Amino acid sequence: MKVVILGGGESGKGAALLAKKLGYDCFLSDSGQLKAEHKDVLVRHNIRFEEGGHNFDTILEADLIIKSPGIPDKSEVMKAIRSKGIKTISEIEFGALHCQSKILAVTGSNGKTTTSALLYHVLKSAGRNVEIAGNYGYSFAGLLAEKQAEFVVLEISSFQLDDIDTFKPHISTILNITPDHLDRYEYKMEKYVASKFRITRNQEETDFFIYNGDDKEILNFLDQANVKASKLAITSSDYASGVKKKNGEDFEMRLIGKHNRFNARVVVEMARLAGLNDEEIAIGLADFESLAHRLEWVADVNGVRYINDSKATNVDSVFYALDAIDTDIIWIAGGTDKGNDYEVLKPLAKQKVKTLICLGIDNDKLKQSFVDTIPTIMETTKVSIAVSMAGESSQPGNTVLLSPACASFDLFKNYMDRGDQFKAEVLEYKQKIEKTTR
Ligand code: ADP
Repeated sequence: MKVVILGGGESGKGAALLAKKLGYDCFLSDSGQLKAEHKDVLVRHNIRFEEGGHNFDTILEADLIIKSPGIPDKSEVMKAIRSKGIKTISEIEFGALHCQSKILAVTGSNGKTTTSALLYHVLKSAGRNVEIAGNYGYSFAGLLAEKQAEFVVLEISSFQLDDIDTFKPHISTILNITPDHLDRYEYKMEKYVASKFRITRNQEETDFFIYNGDDKEILNFLDQANVKASKLAITSSDYASGVKKKNGEDFEMRLIGKHNRFNARVVVEMARLAGLNDEEIAIGLADFESLAHRLEWVADVNGVRYINDSKATNVDSVFYALDAIDTDIIWIAGGTDKGNDYEVLKPLAKQKVKTLICLGIDNDKLKQSFVDTIPTIMETTKVSIAVSMAGESSQPGNTVLLSPACASFDLFKNYMDRGDQFKAEVLEYKQKIEKTTR
């Protein structure tokens, strides 16, 4: 069987490794340039590839196409493939066809990485044979080329659900659905919601679907989704004051904020359905620290806490960050606006934010939105200046929060670069302050 893999990113590389392992005649094609490390892997495994363009003759000879999530359906190559009627699947589908593990799949607009990592950590800490893949760094197919485990935790984006056919998680969850990436769905929210619900499509009565019972988009779509799996809603009353064990005690946890109590509540339910008891679950919940760039503690300087939430690239995640912090806040925000509506943030901003520092090239919309809500607004395009402005505007007991609500591409490579620069500048500022007060 001839398999052509379109796209040579993480998922294309993983699909190629699995296809090769299964003994298929495989060829990888990428219209752009491949990363050097990916090329090395392909060469080492004797996998043929091309980059910088697609050779249609070779591609159209395939019996099966495995398409990376980033390749638009409207591209010339996809049009040619569809018109020839060649079967096309995603890397997630390809993995699912060759996976013996129980799949525990997590999707949603916000909280996928945190929830997947926490679930993995809980299962691992309880001694289960578990792996993690998907959007989470390493691809599903790439993992399966190397090993099988009893459980695979899969973090899945809506793009990755677009070309599935038989993919069937044993336990699936949709954490929330808020507008994001709508450009991929013709700006139609229904299409984005339907895409997320694909996670349940092949589930059967013996499977489980856990969802956010307070999320309007999820509730609206649920009737027409025809979910066969046993459904379980998690609502805010289930985690209002803490995440409870069956005996009524609270699980101990280090993660802060209502949103993280929700994520943890979902994890507890998924872990119970995977066969863990509460004592086993407690081990991993207790020592899991927040991931980098997600409400990550950076340092305390002069009694002021500095928190890096650079991954908060939309309004919803900033809402939960402002909600999670109990002190007065110096808020650093801004970047590439994705059509944000800041209205929902105003009550929390009015209550807690004393100073807004806009860190972006075009800050007009952000400034306009909060001019009547936040007493002091400043702006800069330099992280070092943002940090010293924050330091000078703060008082002991305050929190400086980088939680941008925007993408980072105006000033930074990506959200990690933004968060890393922030952390480095905070540590430098701390040293400077400590030197002058010594
Ligand atoms: P994703 O992988 O879906 O982007 P992350 O776990 O990386 O999610 O978190 C992204 C941002 O969303 C972070 O700022 C984080 O604090 C926030 N967040 C995490 N969980 C939730 C949730 N359940 N609801 C809203 N925001 C959340």
